[in-house]
Formats: sequence, C-alpha cells, structure tokens
Amino acid sequence: MDILFLAPVFKERIWGGQKLKQFGYQLPYLKTGECWAISAHPNGESIIKEGRFKGLPLSQVFGSHKELFNHIPYDRFPLLTKILDANDDLSVQVHPDDLYALSVENDLGKTECWYVLDAEDDAYIIYGHHATSKEAFKMMIENNQWHDLLIKKPVKKGDFIYVPSGTIHALGKGILILETQQSSDTTYRLYDYDRLDDKGKPRELHIDKSIEVSKIPHQNPVLDIKEMNFSTSHITHFVGNQFFTVQKWVIHDHFELNNDYYKLFSVLEGSGTINGEKIKKGDHFIVCANVPKIELIGDLELIVSWA
Ligand code: ZN
Repeated sequence: MDILFLAPVFKERIWGGQKLKQFGYQLPYLKTGECWAISAHPNGESIIKEGRFKGLPLSQVFGSHKELFNHIPYDRFPLLTKILDANDDLSVQVHPDDLYALSVENDLGKTECWYVLDAEDDAYIIYGHHATSKEAFKMMIENNQWHDLLIKKPVKKGDFIYVPSGTIHALGKGILILETQQSSDTTYRLYDYDRLDDKGKPRELHIDKSIEVSKIPHQNPVLDIKEMNFSTSHITHFVGNQFFTVQKWVIHDHFELNNDYYKLFSVLEGSGTINGEKIKKGDHFIVCANVPKIELIGDLELIVSWA
C-alpha cells in the first residue's frame, strides 16, 4: 500500500519571486518562479522521499511498477503538477497538441489548467485572441497590435481556468497558481512585452510555431463544474477528460473513500493525516492503486488529480 511523498524541484524564472515560501519551502533563488511538485519529466524530476522507493525518481517507479498506476497505457508518466509564482507578467505563449509535439519536439502536447491560489486585486491573465482568420492573426502580430489582438481576463482567488493546447495565454503579475498539466515542457513564446533579460538580450520568440499551433478563431472551452457534499467535507469537480481529472477537496474533520485508482495530491492549506501519515500545506504525494482506502483527518484543502 504505497503513498509516494515527493521532493519538489524549483526553477529560477525572470518573472519569479518569493511567494512559494508560504508552503514551507527553502527557495534556492531570489526569483523562484516554479515549484515542480509532482513530476516525472526529465527537465525536473521528483524524487521519492520515503518508503520502499526512497531516493528513486518518479519515472523509474512508474516504468517498473505499472501496477501501482493501474497499468495506464502511457510510456511516460502523463501528469505534471506545479505551483507558479508570477511576480511579474509571463510571456504570451501557446502550447502544441500531442500530435504536433510528439512529431516535432519528442514531447507530449500541453493542455493545462490553473487553480488560482492567490491574486492581487487588479490581477489579470491573457486568455485567447480576437483574430478571426490566420491572415488577420499574422497581420496583427507583424504590426505589433498586441493590445487589439490579445484578450485580457480578470482573475481572483479560487478561480479555475482550463487552458487546452492551442490557446494563447499568459499569467499576469501578482498571481499564484497550482497548475495541473500534461507532462510536457514545450512552450512557444509569441510575445514578451519587448523585455530584455539580465544580459540585455530579448528572450527567444517562436512566432512561426505559435501561429502554426494556435486555434484561430479562439474558442472558450465549456466547463461542467460540479459540487459534491459529504457530511463535513466538500469536493469540487473542475474537469475530467482524456488529459486529466482535477478536483478540489476541502476536508473538515474526517473523510473516507474506497480507492482503486492512483491519485495525485497537493496540500494547499491546513494539516492532518492521510492513512495515519502526517501531511501539511506544501506536501505533494501520490496515493497508488494498491491503497484500498483513503482516510483523511484534519482540516485540509487539497487539489487531487489523475489521468
Ligand atoms: Zn502554459
């Protein structure tokens, strides 16, 4: 009966900050932008902290113990969970789908989703664009008509945002999110606000690939968010599709559930226990398929996902 507790990996980003400290992490950089919390991606892998797999990377356990993950038909672990601290605007970007990414980048495509952990009062994201044809999209990019092209959307704490591959998007300054995504590290940067890095150079753009993979016209996905109450606990089902299922669990006191499928957990708030093991804000773990019952005790807010 395996619960895999994972050590996070941190990434320095020009737009990062210090907000991830609130999860109890020792941050290695002044501008820490990303915590890769549950990852089997080669660009930043989680190491298992305790138990019979202690010291092993997640990809190795996934590769050699498929029974712990319901023998899901993927060669690589399909999901990546991150926490992002956007202390400044992120570049405007787009991700390819599986078909494109596997043939061009040897990576998975990237459909992602965000749960907003915190946002400043005037915070906004870029989500979608106004172009109705590829020609118009190209022309507005060539003419630097970013203000006319890009759609801004205000966000607040508790929002859930689904970002399918092909959607133009960017986190704005002052937003902290938990991201659940396909296990991919392929991003095409369309616009970087003409910023220069610390060496006085602009960051690389990928305009042609961005145009190739962007959905034109933009489509807003339709979500079917469901709320479920269980005596003192509450589950919000945000999304469930071929890429992932993502839910928020708010536990008060005691919650029990029979289990036969692996699940990724991130503790957003509070403390307590899972099957007798202590957990607290900032912990990330995978409950494997061989755990027949999940028993959570305490006051906890969790993001739970699987694929
Ligand atoms: Zn993205």
